[in-house]
Amino acid sequence: MKVASGSSTLELVQGDITKQDTEAIGNAANSRLAGGGGVDGAIHRAGGPAIMKECRKIGGCPTGHAVLTTGGNLKAKYVIHAVGPIYRGGNAGEAELLKSAYLSCLKIATEKGIKSIAFPSISTGVYGYPIDEASRIALTTCMDYLKEHPEIELVRFVLFGDANYRAYEKTLKEIQSEHG
Ligand code: ADP
Repeated sequence: MKVASGSSTLELVQGDITKQDTEAIGNAANSRLAGGGGVDGAIHRAGGPAIMKECRKIGGCPTGHAVLTTGGNLKAKYVIHAVGPIYRGGNAGEAELLKSAYLSCLKIATEKGIKSIAFPSISTGVYGYPIDEASRIALTTCMDYLKEHPEIELVRFVLFGDANYRAYEKTLKEIQSEHG
C-alpha cells in the first residue's frame, strides 16, 4: 500500500528490512547498542561487523533517540539505530518515546541528506508494544514529518510477516478515512 504525504511517499510493504534498497534503514536497537535478536540481529548478521564496530565506538543511545552508522555490507548506505521504549502498560511515557524514536531517525535523515528510509516496526516485537497503537504513532509521526520535509522523498515501512503488514494497513486506512 502506498500513499502520498505532502510531495513524498509513504509505503507499506511486507518483507525483510535487510534487503531494502533505500538509502537508510532503521533498526530497533537497545540502549546499549549491543546487538540482540529480532530485527537488530538480522541487520548485524546481514550488514557484517563494520556496523557493530561503530556501535561500540558510539557506546549507547538513550530510549527515544537514534544514532547513525554505516550500512556495512547492506544495500542501504546507512543504518539509523533507534531505541524504542519497552511497553510497560502505556502509562510510562511510551507513546512519546516511540514518537521521539521515529522523529530522531527522520531528523538524522534530514541532516545527512538521506532521501529514502525504510523502517521496521519499532518496539512491537520483544519490547511488547501493541501493534495497533504503535502503528498509529509510527505512521502519523512519519506522515506529519513528510508534510513539513519534502527533502525526504520516501518512507517505507517493512513489516515482517502478514499479520504485522495487515495491522499497519488497517491503521493507515483508518488514518486516511479520519482525515478524509
Ligand atoms: P523491539 O525490541 O523494538 O520490539 P524486535 O526486533 O523484537 O524489536 O521487533 C520489532 C519488529 O521487527 C517486529 O515486528 C519483528 O517481527 C520485526 N522484524 C524482525 N526481523 C525483521 C526483519 N528482518 N525485517 C523487518 N522486520 C523484522
